[in-house]
Amino acid sequence: MAYRAEYIWIDGTEPTAEIRSKTKILADGDKPGIWGFDGSSTNQATGDNSDVVLEPAFQCPDPIRGANDVLVLCETLLTSDMSPHPTNTRAAARAALEQYGDQEPWFGLEQEYTMLEPATGWPAGFPTGGYPAPQGPYYCGVGAVKIKGREVVEQHTTWCIEAGLAISGTNAEVMPGQWEFQIGPVDTVAVGDHLWMARYLLHRAGELHDLVITLEAKPMKGDWNGAGMHTNFSTNGMRDNYDAVIAAAESLGGPQTISDHLAGYGVGIEERLTGEHETERFDKFSYGVSDRGASVRIPWQVAQDQKGYIEDRRPNANADPYVVATLLTNTCCAALA
Ligand code: ADP
Ligand code: MN
Ligand code: MN
Ligand code: MN
Repeated sequence: MAYRAEYIWIDGTEPTAEIRSKTKILADGDKPGIWGFDGSSTNQATGDNSDVVLEPAFQCPDPIRGANDVLVLCETLLTSDMSPHPTNTRAAARAALEQYGDQEPWFGLEQEYTMLEPATGWPAGFPTGGYPAPQGPYYCGVGAVKIKGREVVEQHTTWCIEAGLAISGTNAEVMPGQWEFQIGPVDTVAVGDHLWMARYLLHRAGELHDLVITLEAKPMKGDWNGAGMHTNFSTNGMRDNYDAVIAAAESLGGPQTISDHLAGYGVGIEERLTGEHETERFDKFSYGVSDRGASVRIPWQVAQDQKGYIEDRRPNANADPYVVATLLTNTCCAALA
């Protein structure tokens, strides 16, 4: 019997790329191959030369349709010479992993996000046009007054597991309507593959329950936590000894490195990294054990064990995981080589 392949790709929307997808029906036994789309409708081409190539890069079972159907995350290529499209950030992640694969870089991403009511654009769980009681009871909270949207979270988690993605946990966050899931630990390329696929499934779970998912870094101004994508990182050396953990944290502290990394850590980084709400200011760099006000945290357990990983707390929820993983792999692995 014929089956469906959902081709998924990352578009050229400014300032933050969005997910697009379309369906191809394939005959039984045929594999998803090269396809294309109209790049003039996704800010990836001009109308007079509009075709952009989709090259399957990562495939998993489609947990929404089930049966034999599949999800196919694609790289975008130029028709002229089949080289990576300028918006294709996976290509650089592949190159970084190729160069430093002997250090076995691993990533665990904590994807925070906010659910919005589609009619008002106001966070789910906020009274319409107003504000709930201040932050405090909502983080990991239980009960209808504190929690909104759990049905989306459960649907999303089930789908991620059924798709075989490396989802490792979920929790309700500090602001009402804000949640988190974690992906990892997996390598520099796989972490982006799994996270983009999980983002796709999250938007689909939102459709099902009529809630909009936003990855905006500071959806509510004022005394409300922003949404980040804390990035936990290790190499085989760091998983082996503490000196390498410290060396990795130190390697992120040079002025040029700081600005290179912040440029790839998502739109609106200055709005979120204020020095308040469990962040360090964007124009400062610090690291410390257990410190949630530092740029980079060394988890207490890692100091205890004298080996493990670091947590770069700076990336925004709206950052591209391929870009973040590429930056950390190139910077830290070069220092540790
Ligand atoms: P937090 O205490 O900051 O909220 P979480 O439990 O949400 O931390 O997320 C921790 C993440 O770190 C998980 O995704 C986990 O898979 C990942 N992780 C654990 N060990 C490692 C490691 N050695 N290298 C990279 N990531 C790791
Ligand atoms: Mn977390
Ligand atoms: Mn969190
Ligand atoms: Mn964290």
